[in-house]
Amino acid sequence: MALRFFNTYSRELEQFEPRDPAARKIGIYTCGPTVYSRAHIGNFRAYIFEDLLQRHLELRGYKVHRVMNITDVDDKTIRGAREAEVPLAKFTAQFKEAFFEDIETLRIKRADGFPAATDQRYIERMIEMIGALVSRGLAYQADDKSVYFRINKFPDYGKLAHFDLTQLQSTGRVKHDEYDKEHIGDFALWKAWDEEDANVKWDSPWGPGRPGWHIECSAMSTALLGDQIDIHCGGVDNIFPHHEAEIAQSEGVTGKKFVRYWLHCAHLLVDGQKMAKSLGNFYTVPDILGKGYTGNEIRYALMRVHYRAPLNFTWEGMKEARESLARIDEWLARLRERSASVSPAKNKGKQAGSMPYTFEEALDDDLNISAALGFLFESIRETNRAMDENKLDAASASAWLDWWKRINTVLDLEMEAEVAVPPEVVQLAKDRKSARREKNWKRSDELRGKISTLGWEVRDTKDGQKLTPRT
Ligand code: AMP
Ligand code: ZN
Repeated sequence: MALRFFNTYSRELEQFEPRDPAARKIGIYTCGPTVYSRAHIGNFRAYIFEDLLQRHLELRGYKVHRVMNITDVDDKTIRGAREAEVPLAKFTAQFKEAFFEDIETLRIKRADGFPAATDQRYIERMIEMIGALVSRGLAYQADDKSVYFRINKFPDYGKLAHFDLTQLQSTGRVKHDEYDKEHIGDFALWKAWDEEDANVKWDSPWGPGRPGWHIECSAMSTALLGDQIDIHCGGVDNIFPHHEAEIAQSEGVTGKKFVRYWLHCAHLLVDGQKMAKSLGNFYTVPDILGKGYTGNEIRYALMRVHYRAPLNFTWEGMKEARESLARIDEWLARLRERSASVSPAKNKGKQAGSMPYTFEEALDDDLNISAALGFLFESIRETNRAMDENKLDAASASAWLDWWKRINTVLDLEMEAEVAVPPEVVQLAKDRKSARREKNWKRSDELRGKISTLGWEVRDTKDGQKLTPRT
């Protein structure tokens, strides 16, 4: 089956055809965290779905270039900094650090770029884009000195959300501070400075102010991935107005189709409601680690349901995740034992590659992870039965282990290592991680030496430290 995805733009399952099929290179933009508090696991459901998408595309031979932005200036971050009485950069730094810690715990592959909205390069790009929109009549400066996008001049506005603009007019929900706009749906590209912003401001042709949230993503995606990208992702709450606005801004500037495939994940729910900071019904990664669960278990619990189906967070679900992982561990241990055994089996048993519907094919079908995992557990059941009856030979067992290795490049679950890492080596690696976070390179090198004398090698990879026995 060819790779296909549900495109929010067309509301249809579409065969995946990247912009440049020959090069097999894919540009993906994923909306990242707004760093005004620690991200909750609802946010991580979105990031884990994007991780699964990237890893599956890589398994299928594509080379993925992914960008995830960090929103470090907006109403919420400014308010947070003001309330904490610290400069904006200092306020957001703690949550950026927490975010990187959490993605490491959840084994989410790092994007190739994590641009921050306050980076001068991108602020300049935002101003340049707003200037281009103004000169084309697609944006205007209102009496309040802010600059707005004129949605009536962009006929495609509303196509992503399947939104009828006349409906927007009839709701009549005009906030009192938005009276300067020509149309209720016009959104801010540049927000004129006011006292509440304190010293958060940049100069622009329209006076001091700061960018609106939507233009941040248009500027960072076009700056780092070019005018056109293959896939753009986020949670369903991003569809309107955020992604709709991104299309209007980017296409308004470049005149080219901005995104080929829009993929949005359903929410993580708690008691039927979206997990959200504002509702106070959220858990962070450290909250769940504090209950004795591991990053691996959280990863599995957030990944196991199809991304377009709502997923309810429950502690029962966490327990099930633990049990599922234990089953995989047990199965791998049996396969290892069987593969090393010299006593003959009654027959070869089911071959890893002989199944009619494979794990990868399930993922080709709009990342159907539920079906892919169903297939994995079905295979576990069958091979376990074959081993019980001594009907799986050593070669087949090793083929299953190779198969697991292959599918685990997508799942990236940390299973019990064949050779356990001794606790003292684990401790030294943890100390080294802290030393590196404090940029204490000398101590980091010393710790590497100690780890080495205990017979282990530590490598720094994009996904953190990796320990391997020294050969
Ligand atoms: P934010 O930091 O609010 O901009 O959100 C970052 C990402 O998390 C966005 O892609 C959101 O759509 C996504 N998100 C927020 N809440 C949830 C949730 N409860 N379930 C799934 N994704 C979410
Ligand atoms: Zn965005």
